[in-house]
Amino acid sequence: MTTVAAYAAPSAKAPLERTTIERRAVREFDVLIDIEFAGICHSDIHQAREGWGEAIFPMVPGHEIAGVVSEVGPGVTRFAVGDRVGVGCLVDSCRECDNCKAGLEQYCTGGSVGTYNAVGKDGEPTYGGYAQKIVVDENYVVRIPDGLSLDVAAPLLCAGITTYSPLKHWNAGPGKKVAILGMGGLGHMGVKIAHALGAEVTVLSQSLRKKDDGLKLGAAHYYATSDENTFKELKGSFDLILSTVSAPLNLDAYLSLLKTDGAFVNVGAPEEPVALNLFSVIGGRKTLAGSGIGGIQETQEMLDFCAEHGLGAEIELISADQINEAYERVLASDVRYRFVIDTSTI
Ligand code: NAP
Ligand code: ZN
Ligand code: ZN
Repeated sequence: MTTVAAYAAPSAKAPLERTTIERRAVREFDVLIDIEFAGICHSDIHQAREGWGEAIFPMVPGHEIAGVVSEVGPGVTRFAVGDRVGVGCLVDSCRECDNCKAGLEQYCTGGSVGTYNAVGKDGEPTYGGYAQKIVVDENYVVRIPDGLSLDVAAPLLCAGITTYSPLKHWNAGPGKKVAILGMGGLGHMGVKIAHALGAEVTVLSQSLRKKDDGLKLGAAHYYATSDENTFKELKGSFDLILSTVSAPLNLDAYLSLLKTDGAFVNVGAPEEPVALNLFSVIGGRKTLAGSGIGGIQETQEMLDFCAEHGLGAEIELISADQINEAYERVLASDVRYRFVIDTSTI
């Protein structure tokens, strides 16, 4: 066991504070990673505040982890000391179900293990990336290509893959009109990736405050959803809408923006259920779908794609003592566009 400095929420109502945790000794197939950067995902906040239900405390959030391998177990074949690596939302899965075999570990039916707020196969709670080190089985570790610096790569481990996976699955590409709903951590990566895939990208944001940025990141159009004219003007426009919104939203209004056979794909994970009038999907044979992160192999594919296209996240680098303040700014949609913790400050 190694004692490691970390930032943890002691309970759902309390701010995060510095603490120490124990990391397991490196086992046969494990790698020990010296974490350099950890992104702050809105999911960290939902969980640290028990917005999605009962959680495990103390909680060390963080599933956008970038660092360097500092030790490997004797059975490790894919990584060596000094390799630049990342860890996302999963640190284990059953490895036997159809989904695991198909590289869809995120939909494991035999029991996957989250990077934090979960219990590992050894019965111990998992602790995430707001820490100086982590020990992970090599099968749940990905390589960060040389072309990406670790700080801007960290958010790709969740925000990148969560947008890349559905954009690929629903064929965002040349000739397709894709709307990205919400320009936060996920949304801004959605804009970059959809643009790099060749789609015509529109941002639908609550206001026009971030319009210049959206256009710079690759959007061709940018509309405010607070303006009722937006819904009149864009009726029937999109092949695909990817919603990254963290709060309940008016699904019927957004479904009206799809073309016939268009798809509204939701990755945002609001804490409250949303209402739906089923006539919104009957007319126009529309699809309402969801998507969760991505598999391990697809995460590697996404990192390679991002390196090839020069796509990192737009980040605000913070020290660990700014985490609580950063949480408040994320909740206020005041993030441009991902907070990343310099874990050397923990
Ligand atoms: P974020 O940085 O806070 O971005 C969310 C964006 O949603 C905000 O920037 C804002 O965009 C918009 N928004 C927020 N509140 C809104 C409201 N009341 N009405 C309309 N729009 C609103 O969060 P994130 O880290 O990108 O995560 C987004 C959501 O995805 C979270 O719920 C998170 O838990 C979830 N998530 C899901 C997965 C998955 O696998 N499915 C993975 C990661 C995260 P504008 O300012 O542009 O309007
Ligand atoms: Zn996340
Ligand atoms: Zn499985």
